[in-house]
Amino acid sequence: MARDRLADAKDYYDVIVIGSGLAGLTGANNLAKAGRSVLLLEQHYNFGGMATWFKRPGGHIFDISLHGFPVGMIKSCRKYWTREIADSIVQLKGVRFDNPQFSLQTTFDRVDFTNKLVDHFGIEKQTVEDFFNASRAMDFYDDQAMTTRELFQKFFPGRSDVVRFLMEPIAYANGSTLDDPAITYGIVFSNFMSKGVYIFQGGTDKLIRMMKTELKVNGVDLRHSICVDKICTEDGQVTGVVANGTKIACGAVLSNANLKTTIEKMVGPEKFDDAFIKEAKAVRLNNSSCQVYMGIKKGETLDNIGDLLFTSVDPEFDSTRLCAKDVTSRTFSMYYPDIRPGSDRYAIVSSTNANWSDWATLSEQDYEKEKQHLIKTTLDALEKYIPGVRQKIDHVEASTPKTFEHYTMQAQGATFGTKFEGLQVSMDLPKQIEGLFHAGSVGIIMSGWLGAINYGVIVANEVDSFMLTKLQSQQQAAS
Ligand SMILES: Cc1cc2nc3c(=O)[nH]c(=O)nc-3n(C[C@H](O)[C@H](O)[C@H](O)COP(=O)(O)OP(=O)(O)OC[C@H]3O[C@@H](n4cnc5c(N)ncnc54)[C@H](O)[C@@H]3O)c2cc1C
Repeated sequence: MARDRLADAKDYYDVIVIGSGLAGLTGANNLAKAGRSVLLLEQHYNFGGMATWFKRPGGHIFDISLHGFPVGMIKSCRKYWTREIADSIVQLKGVRFDNPQFSLQTTFDRVDFTNKLVDHFGIEKQTVEDFFNASRAMDFYDDQAMTTRELFQKFFPGRSDVVRFLMEPIAYANGSTLDDPAITYGIVFSNFMSKGVYIFQGGTDKLIRMMKTELKVNGVDLRHSICVDKICTEDGQVTGVVANGTKIACGAVLSNANLKTTIEKMVGPEKFDDAFIKEAKAVRLNNSSCQVYMGIKKGETLDNIGDLLFTSVDPEFDSTRLCAKDVTSRTFSMYYPDIRPGSDRYAIVSSTNANWSDWATLSEQDYEKEKQHLIKTTLDALEKYIPGVRQKIDHVEASTPKTFEHYTMQAQGATFGTKFEGLQVSMDLPKQIEGLFHAGSVGIIMSGWLGAINYGVIVANEVDSFMLTKLQSQQQAAS
């Protein structure tokens, strides 16, 4: 069946893209628009990777990773996708925090955060301005020695409440910790602070449908349910891929699969320099997630309690506690009917950061038990904000790091790819093997919907210039 899906594929493509996460889709689209012949191979039956959704009987539909992204998505979607996609992006205005240190609601932008920091937390306005400016000024080429913990210590010493306000949402958005380089915080925080949090109206299903349409218009050969097993190389150059036992030749490969899997499994460590492999092996994976999906019965309604609710009963922000199995820090994403205009349905998704190691080795029985515990504690927490919510819910289920690994093949279900050091390894791949590129959640900065899309564009440009040079030298050799 899967082999049949490649029966009418061409023998050669300029570029083969492995994986249809947002970075893979965007890379493929840009390469096709540049005139390259592109084959996109996705192992799942759906395109989108972590940007996905699922349906359940009773008319329920759940989005997995559509909780919020920065305003930059509008520009990126307009420039690299279509105006229609960009026009469906709308702001979420109700972001709530509720924890033992503070309870407040914000529009999550620089003006409102400044007001909250000054009026609610009593910080000097100048200190807040200096902090915002320092965060905004950070870029990848900066000194990477300062940690986020040191950044907060410099501006808000002894203020664990302020640290929690500034850090908790970003830790949910990119898996960064207080001990990661401060730029992993500064860049993502500043992206959000520019104009708040946005979401795609119509749901992830509509977004991916629109992207598929655009890819087809631009001539990308899209194939799902095809797992790439091997990236073929000869004399340090990419020659093609093997998928479902079929070899397809190409000029370049853009892998959107997990960085470490690409290097260690699909290409093979023996094909790289020892020093590079050492560096690649040392790259740490980012954390994974757990979610609880709660579907509200048809005909039931919910009062508006905000769009995103960051809730916790932990006394302070703690990066380690945030991933623990008995976590109390979670984000409730509230999906009111306007997420899918025309619908009258409500859904709630609870997301928590999680460690692969806490879930991977459980026996089948313990795994089920822990999932039920996660569901129970999540519903208990939600009752505080929506009393009697259990009576309104007629579908509930949970996912764990194992679920994310299963559906996306991201090693250890890593929600945001790799830690910071992964970015350099990803960027250095083509220096090791000609024609081999990687784009996808990596290095914390290039993660989330916006990071993945933007990295897809950056790498597509590199692939395109590589192909241009390659074709020019082939023409010269032939003449
Ligand atoms: C629970 C959760 C909540 C999130 N919330 C948000 C949010 O609110 N906002 C936000 O901006 N981001 C969020 N994210 C993160 C965001 O979804 C990801 O960072 C982003 O979608 C990753 O895109 P990607 O292109 O890097 O790769 P992925 O989405 O991981 O896609 C990789 C693709 O490659 C395919 N693949 C892998 N190996 C092979 C192979 N051998 N052959 C063929 N195909 C292969 C996979 O099936 C997959 O489709 C969330 C993620 C999770 C899990």
